[in-house]
Amino acid sequence: MKITDLKCAVIGQNPVVRITTDEGIYGYGEAENSKPYLKPHVLFYKQYLIGEDPTNVERVMLKIRRMGSFKPWGSSVSAIEMALWDIAGKAAGVPVYKLLGGKVRDRVRVYNGGVRFPMSGHSPQDYADNMAKMKAAKEGFSIIKAAVGFHSGMTGSVPGFFYGDLQGGPPHSNRGPLTERGLKHVIACVEAMKAVLGDEIGLALDCGPGWMVPDAIRLAKALEPLNVMWLEDLITGDYMPYVLADVYREVTRSTSTPIHTGEQIYLRQNFKELIESHAVNIIGPDPADIGGIAELKWVAEYADLHGILMAPHGIFDGLIGLAALVQVAATLPQNYIAFEYPVARPDWWYSIITGLPDPIVKNSLIDVWDTPGLGVDFIVEEAKKHLSEEDAGFFD
Ligand SMILES: [Mg+2]
Repeated sequence: MKITDLKCAVIGQNPVVRITTDEGIYGYGEAENSKPYLKPHVLFYKQYLIGEDPTNVERVMLKIRRMGSFKPWGSSVSAIEMALWDIAGKAAGVPVYKLLGGKVRDRVRVYNGGVRFPMSGHSPQDYADNMAKMKAAKEGFSIIKAAVGFHSGMTGSVPGFFYGDLQGGPPHSNRGPLTERGLKHVIACVEAMKAVLGDEIGLALDCGPGWMVPDAIRLAKALEPLNVMWLEDLITGDYMPYVLADVYREVTRSTSTPIHTGEQIYLRQNFKELIESHAVNIIGPDPADIGGIAELKWVAEYADLHGILMAPHGIFDGLIGLAALVQVAATLPQNYIAFEYPVARPDWWYSIITGLPDPIVKNSLIDVWDTPGLGVDFIVEEAKKHLSEEDAGFFD
């Protein structure tokens, strides 16, 4: 089998990859809906793919993997990798999880990242009210993640939250020492959310990046009695092209509250120090940023050898990304907690994709399906209605 073409269309806001072959089998991959600008970057790799056998996924990846980087520049390579597995699975007539080593579980747990309700403010009561809505969501989530600190609006809306100057611009630009008021505000909001969730539902907290080490340690120690699931990205995180494992280690060694990072990190090599030095308790790579699903599987196995848990990122990965997450999560070792459930935006995405269970999530779990490849496909006639003129030939 040979690759004959690589196409990319921006559908809604998600760059979608389509790889075609000389045997009529095609595969799909998808990048985050926050990255519509990636289309030319995806197409850059076409020159390296034409004529290759897509079922030799690793050999194809060796040609392009070095030509990517930390988020967002590993997304195109990652989406192509997903599409290659989709083809390889279809060619073999098996779901992708079989090619990754087989299922460890029949159902995969998800945590709430994508089901969101507008916040009326950033007071402890606002956080409690918002948590009550997420707790009542039809997906029956057993773990819910909330944004606090520099990952949230409280940075700008709580007067005197930190000693730095408020920065605008790209996501999560703020960083600096917290005031005592700021720290107490974060703790009060977490306590308010825990009062709603009790011990029925786990609470995870996306915190940064941007915290100074002493503040990070104070927060983690103050929250120890609350048994939160994890504190995510205190030091480095989203869109930061570096890890700072030794700084994370200083925080992690000082507290029993689990420390989490990894969503922006590209390739196993960049997880090496984080894992080998036990710098965090939980890692959260995104299959659409780390370099693909096999890369995520490899890192999960290596993390398990070091006593580190897995809670993959995925909030913006869309429905093809969801399929990729389900396939790989089914194969992960027992250090697996849950992956972050993506909600497709705009809503019409649910009317152009076939192959997903209905409802998708029951009691925080998704049944792993057995259809070949990633197991999802476009309803072409419906999907075509949402293609731009430039992408009109995407399904041809
Ligand atoms: Mg995060």
